[in-house]
Amino acid sequence: MTFRTGIGYDVHQLQEGLPLWLGGIQIPHTKGLLGHSDADVLIHAICDALLGAAALGDIGKHFPDTDPALKGIDSKILLAKTCELLDSHGYTIGNVDAILCLQRPKVAPYIPLMRETLATIMHLDTDAVSVKATTTEHLGFEGREEGVSAIANVLIERKH
Ligand code: MG
Repeated sequence: MTFRTGIGYDVHQLQEGLPLWLGGIQIPHTKGLLGHSDADVLIHAICDALLGAAALGDIGKHFPDTDPALKGIDSKILLAKTCELLDSHGYTIGNVDAILCLQRPKVAPYIPLMRETLATIMHLDTDAVSVKATTTEHLGFEGREEGVSAIANVLIERKH
């Protein structure tokens, strides 16, 4: 049985008037994240962690932001495709642990739905998907509400 771990990190810029997608759900806020896709920074960090664990490159390689077909795409689709890619390489996912770094809005009330949403896409039990959130105590770009960052760590296992 071979276990492997992976780490992912992503940042997107906050702008007034855009929808805020985090962990596959839309959260009411005055600002949203700017990106080629729906800019779901949490899902992107998880995708990068999964790809990294399998040494399959990164999200930019598989889903380039120059691809017009991916313009505005729901990042849940990118996560599903990433999971299919790992499956095709003989990997199953063990667990995911992720951190969202943002000053506002408070996302704690939305975390249970994020975990359920992500777990469903990854065919995992909800208790295998952890999402945490922290402010940066008003420090840095997250603290100034200029952007949101996310870090994810995953464990995968080779099936055969
Ligand atoms: Mg991204």
